Amino acid sequence: MTAEKTIFKKIIDREIPATIVYEDDRCLAFEDINPVAPTHVVVIPKKEIVSVDDLSEEDEALVGHLFVVMRKIAAELHLESGYRVVTNCGRDAGQEVMHLHFHLLGGRGFRWPPG
Ligand code: 5GP
Repeated sequence: MTAEKTIFKKIIDREIPATIVYEDDRCLAFEDINPVAPTHVVVIPKKEIVSVDDLSEEDEALVGHLFVVMRKIAAELHLESGYRVVTNCGRDAGQEVMHLHFHLLGGRGFRWPPG
């Protein structure tokens, strides 16, 4: 039996719609359906990795690529005054979608420490 696809895999496979802001052969970035900031983009690898906890050495270049892509998206979206990159890993962090993703948040100030 095949495991159920995550919602993000369905977005990659164009089975459900999303507002895509960037795509290349290794990753996809789209607007979050429930934004918590004026800019809220979700950046994901096309490779199915559950979370940071599931990364291996072979993923080092991929993760580096995701960060360079986020820097380019932030520039494109004029987040010159700053932005936050967040990844939730596991239950305590509130991870809901079991496909590695980075939240690129901007357009307002953010507190520290986070909630
Ligand atoms: P997590 O809590 O796992 O770090 O974040 C999952 C994120 O995915 C949430 O911010 C949620 O709003 C977003 N999300 C969940 N389902 C969908 C969807 O179907 N489309 C889009 N664009 N975002 C989604």
